[in-house]
Amino acid sequence: MKIWLDGILQDLEAARVSVFDHGLTVGDGIFETVKSVDGKPFALTRHLDRLARSARGLGLPEPDLDEVRRACDAVLDANPMPLGRLRITYTGGLSPLGSDRGEHGPTLVVALGEVARRPDSTATVTVPWTRNERGALTGLKTTSYAENVVALARAREQGASEALFANTVGQLCEGTGSNVFVVLDGEIHTPPVASGCLAGITRALAVEWTGAKETDLPLDVLERADEIFLTSTLRDVQGVHRVDGRELPGAPGPVTAKAMRVFDERAADDVDP
Ligand code: PLP
Repeated sequence: MKIWLDGILQDLEAARVSVFDHGLTVGDGIFETVKSVDGKPFALTRHLDRLARSARGLGLPEPDLDEVRRACDAVLDANPMPLGRLRITYTGGLSPLGSDRGEHGPTLVVALGEVARRPDSTATVTVPWTRNERGALTGLKTTSYAENVVALARAREQGASEALFANTVGQLCEGTGSNVFVVLDGEIHTPPVASGCLAGITRALAVEWTGAKETDLPLDVLERADEIFLTSTLRDVQGVHRVDGRELPGAPGPVTAKAMRVFDERAADDVDP
């Protein structure tokens, strides 16, 4: 396995990041997960735009997006696989203990892992913790993911693959690594970005391609929605067949199945929509 670290394609075993990297010591970093199909990254321009937005939000130096693109190409060429996840990580860099970031410049790592195609539907749970819709990190894709790790562990204990959060005012927000959609009377709705969710790239494409509406939704919409689905880079569009104790037999239902079809067709047509 070859990875990109600070300007060089190198063997994974040989690659070294400092134990004082600010990303490791304080979670001062941002990332993107990009799907690759037959060696081609999907929606890379949108991912790079979000990487730059996250860097600005965190006050990190502007990433060199040409280098990130070259790094993605190099890693994909060096590690052929049918379906992959590129992981772009960009951190505050080496900062000896007690010093602020910035003295040595940021760290850029691009790595790749193989993934299996997602099942058509999955189980979810809600968690009692909230997303902060007005936090300093709201909307940024930072490496400070521990809250999601805890919530996902809660989901796994209950045989589910995703945990769903409400925000601080009780509105449906998002999953640990996905956005959420509900079908009500044949119409598709998803929480607006102002709910505190990440502006998911799959979410944006699903809104554009299915005409889903951005609507403030109370968390208990999950108890009455006709259908529920998730979107993310690695799930694409995925139906939900259980939320907490509620079963949704036959998931993915007809509206979700159509959204899946539309998404697959449009994504196959254009790898950088
Ligand atoms: N919400 C969170 C918190 C995420 O981490 C992710 C992706 O990792 C998403 C939503 C979905 O975003 P995307 O469709 O860009 O993968």
